Amino acid sequence: MSPQNTPSFQAQLALLKGLDVGLIILESDFTVTFWNQFMSNHSGIMPKRILGSSFFSHFPELNTQWFRRKLNTTISLHNPSFITWEERPRLFQFKSYRPITGTASMMYQNITLLPLNDESGVTKQVAIIVYDVTDEAVSHQALTAANHELSHLSRTDRLTKLNNRGYWEHCLEQEYERFVRTQHPTSLIMLDIDHFKQVNDTYGHLAGDAVLVHLAKVIQQMIRSTDIAGRFGGEEFGIILPNTPAANAEILAERLRYKIETHPIAYANEQLLVTISLGIAAADSVYLSYQHWLEKADQALYQAKQTGRNQFVTV
Ligand code: GH3
Ligand code: MG
Ligand code: MG
Repeated sequence: MSPQNTPSFQAQLALLKGLDVGLIILESDFTVTFWNQFMSNHSGIMPKRILGSSFFSHFPELNTQWFRRKLNTTISLHNPSFITWEERPRLFQFKSYRPITGTASMMYQNITLLPLNDESGVTKQVAIIVYDVTDEAVSHQALTAANHELSHLSRTDRLTKLNNRGYWEHCLEQEYERFVRTQHPTSLIMLDIDHFKQVNDTYGHLAGDAVLVHLAKVIQQMIRSTDIAGRFGGEEFGIILPNTPAANAEILAERLRYKIETHPIAYANEQLLVTISLGIAAADSVYLSYQHWLEKADQALYQAKQTGRNQFVTV
């Protein structure tokens, strides 16, 4: 650009005043010497009220050691510094009027503190630049929430809301490794509904689903928050019991068995009553892997089925 095309000082000033970002210039004693349109619009403070007065007298909430130090550091080190919305959602308590962000009532801001040097290279002023990043912050938060929901869904069985097999087996592997390290007693219960095929055949698949949901709820209510329940297959469930010897696992197994046997499930006009069989195996150093441990619990379950159902067997 040739010199005669350089905008006049007045034009440059008009440009800065009209920018769609907040621009404030402070002297080193924090007197305000520039206050643009964006700042007036969002704060309701007109230039004639704020120019020449102390910045902190208008924003007592900012009169913190933290922000003063930040400004002083910017001036003394001649280096810009930045405050992102992730660190601190906003410096100024401005409302958000962005139409598409509906969900955020307050503006999210990125802040730049820019030292301004005079001709001799000495910093006597600092500019505060305020960027409205509400849209970016809101979509970032929505994405984080969606990812959170997705990772939850990928671990959860849709019907019963228990852990699905993939995630539950992952937990079983971890608990097995923890057992190998610590030797803290850890138990595993595998359980399966007795003659479940008959429920489906007699009352229909939806009735069967209602039984599965009921059983999952009972399991979830009876276990401790540190226990880990999962749907292993169609009507087979697993419960990992950290810090629990087999004798205590048996107490839970019996309570579960009894509760299911004695509590019919209301479905349509029917009262559905089922029973469950359970197999229990405590973790043991002789097992070569978590799969081996799982096989043992499954064998115990098989034995419970073979010897009459509606009971637990411990290996
Ligand atoms: P057992 O006492 O030996 O366990 O007999 P069972 O009838 O329960 O065993 P079997 O393995 O023969 O049948 C399991 C049935 O579980 C068959 C299948 O239709 C049913 N099932 C598996 N998943 C679901 C499901 O998600 N919903 C419903 N309603 N039924 C399911
Ligand atoms: Mg079954
Ligand atoms: Mg089965």
